[in-house]
This record gives sequence, C-alpha cells and structure tokens, in this order.
Amino acid sequence: MTIASKRIVVTGGAGFLGSHLCELLLAQGHEVLCIDNFFSSTRRGLAHLLEHPRFELQRHDVTWPLYVETDEIYNLACPASPVHYQHDPVQTTKTSVHGAINMLGLAKRLGAKILQASTSEVYGDPAVHPQVEEYWGNVNPIGPRSCYDEGKRCAETLFFDYHRQHQLRIKVVRIFNTYGPRMHPNDGRVVSNFIVQALRGDDITVFGDGAQTRSFCYVSDLIDGLHRMMQSADDITGPINLGNPEECTMRELAELIITLVGSTSKVVTRPLPIDDPRQRRPDISKARALLGWSPSIPMREGLAKTIDYFDTLLANPSMAGAIGR
Ligand code: NAD
Ligand code: UDP
Ligand code: UDP
Repeated sequence: MTIASKRIVVTGGAGFLGSHLCELLLAQGHEVLCIDNFFSSTRRGLAHLLEHPRFELQRHDVTWPLYVETDEIYNLACPASPVHYQHDPVQTTKTSVHGAINMLGLAKRLGAKILQASTSEVYGDPAVHPQVEEYWGNVNPIGPRSCYDEGKRCAETLFFDYHRQHQLRIKVVRIFNTYGPRMHPNDGRVVSNFIVQALRGDDITVFGDGAQTRSFCYVSDLIDGLHRMMQSADDITGPINLGNPEECTMRELAELIITLVGSTSKVVTRPLPIDDPRQRRPDISKARALLGWSPSIPMREGLAKTIDYFDTLLANPSMAGAIGR
C-alpha cells in the first residue's frame, strides 16, 4: 500500500456513484463505512463488496444523527433522478438539509474532512452558459424540482457556514449529469431510459422538442474527480464543477444511442417536465487548474460501455432486482 489507510464514511454508498466510490476507496486500501437507507438502491447492489474485510454497510437514514468514528466523509446520500427525488419531496429536502447538518456535526466532533456531492441543479435553468462557479443560478423555489435544487443549495450554505464558523475542512463539488454501468434501469434518467428503450426496440421518449442540452460525464472520470477534490489542499473548498463539457441536445443523444445500439427504435416526443433546464454545460477551468482534473472518456466510448452493461442486465432479469426501485 502506498498511502496511509484511512477510515472513510460514504453516505449514499449503495447508490450509483457511491458504489463506484466505495470500490475505488477499498482498492486504495482504506476502510469504508457505507451509510445508506436504500431509498433509491438496494443492499444487493453492493453484493460484491459485502464480504470485503475492510467494507462495512450500515442501514441508516442521514436525517438522523450518526455517531461513528471516521477520518473523511463523502456525503452523497440523496436521490438524484427527478423520478426518485419527486417521489417524496419532503424527504428529499430533509435528506439534503438535515443530512448535511448531521454529517457536518459528525465532521465537527471528529475534526474530519467532509465532501458534499452538490449538483449542477444549483444553477437551475441557467442564464449563464457554460456555467461557471461564480454564477448564482436561476432556480424556482416552489416548483416540483425545488426540493432537490433548494435542498442542495441549502446544504452548500451549511457547508460554508460550518467552514466559516467552525473552521471545518470542507469540499463542495457540483456534479453535472453522470452516467455509466450500475445506473438504475428504471430511475427515469435520460441515458438509462434511452439505452433500455433502444435495446428493447421500444420508442425513445424525447421530452419536449429535444433541443434542450446536457453534458454527460462517464462515471470513472467523475469518481476520480471526487477523490482528487478530497485529497486537495485544505484551502480548496470549492465549489468546483465536475462534469464533461461535451454538450449535446437530447435529440442528438437519442440518435447517437440508436446508432450505437443498432436499434430499430423510433423517436417519439412527450411533454417537457416543468422547469426542465434548457441548457447545461460545465466550465471546468477550476477543476483543471486546482485539481489537475479533466474527463478522459469520450461520450461514444462511455455510452458503448454503458450499453454493454444494460445489454447484460436485460439478458439476466435476476440481476435487475439488484439495482433498486
Ligand atoms: P442514487 O440515487 O443512485 O444514490 C443515492 C443514494 O443515497 C442511494 O443509495 C439512496 O438509497 C441513498 N439515500 C437517499 N436518501 C438517503 C437518506 N436519507 N439516508 C441515507 N441514504 C440515503 O444517485 P447517484 O447518482 O449515485 O447520486 C449520488 C449523489 O450525487 C447525490 O447526492 C446526487 O445528488 C449527486 N449527483 C449525482 C448526479 C448524477 O448525474 N448521477 C449529478 C449531480 C449530483
Ligand atoms: N451529530 C451527529 N454525529 C456526531 C455529532 C453531531 O450526527 O458525531 C449531529 C447532531 O445530531 C447535531 C448535528 O449533528 O444535531 C449538528 O451538530 P453540531 O455540533 O453542529 O450542533 P449542535 O449539536 O450544537 O446542535
Ligand atoms: N429526458 C428525455 N427523455 C427521457 C428522460 C429525460 O428527453 O426519457 C430529458 C429531460 O427532460 C432532460 C434531460 O433529458 O431535459 C435530462 O434528464 P435527466 O432526468 O436525466 O436529468 P436532469 O434533468 O436532472 O439533468
């Protein structure tokens, strides 16, 4: 082992990003305590880690206090797909806000370093494009997405107030749309929806006119960014954007996935959800300069790996139960 082994808490560790992060930290020789209430995941999603001698899984809701010992905390607990976070919006806000307070209280008691998985959604439907960290955003405080957006914004406020008031070592990253193996096939996010539809030969459901844009980051790049941020110097608090600036419209994404799958699916349109942001692309100058980070997996390559994953998953329905709602 080249680095000292640490005790690391990953909240939301059973989820899509969390499970990849737990794997990386275990591979580096750390002890990992995964905290999750399985709101949008299952215990079986971590089946391959359960027997690992340095891995521990604790079913726990972060809206309740947590008394454990740890050196670092990655706070990822929060449903991330609109379908999941709008399922119980009050619980979503509680998870972001009470969860942040509890994890910050834990970090304060122990003097531990703590990283918050914030989101590009703090920019709302952005009037500044691409999004720079200095932009304060354009967020509806009372719409169906607000439980997520405002919860995450309030969590950022709490992180910076604990930093200023209690000198906590904080790290805030704003994650842009991320995709890859182990996404939930039915959580409603666009990449998983389109791939599953294309593989099944079902209609591809483009919302609105499909001219809205997103920028998609492959999961291994994102996890590397989270880790670099946690290892960065204490004066690097963020917020820092992490994402892949390769931007495309949802119609272009649908067509690319149809081509890569070799599918016979047709594109159909469905109503655009309320407050759906029209454009999104990260400016990652800060991540490049401060973390030496930039994504390395182009979209075609990442999509091909993700298609392989879903192809295997759909061929083995028993696996589908392993990955959540
Ligand atoms: P996910 O839904 O797969 O994982 C979230 C995990 O948090 C799940 O395992 C869920 O059960 C758990 N959780 C939810 N509420 C909890 C609670 N109250 N207590 C304990 N555990 C709880 O989502 P993901 O894509 O892995 O996202 C992880 C984090 O990254 C989230 O905080 C999300 O907001 C953020 N993020 C993700 C993306 C993305 O594109 N994947 C983009 C921006 C931000
Ligand atoms: N907390 C926790 N684990 C700890 C320490 C604190 O979950 O190891 C929670 C505790 O429930 C508290 C919250 O974190 O409500 C905030 O803690 P802090 O010390 O900042 O505030 P206080 O305890 O004064 O409310
Ligand atoms: N979207 C779509 N068809 C789908 C699911 C989503 O066209 O089946 C669109 C959605 O309206 C949004 C974009 O794809 O404009 C990204 O949606 P997702 O829920 O993945 O992420 P978010 O909106 O949180 O960025």
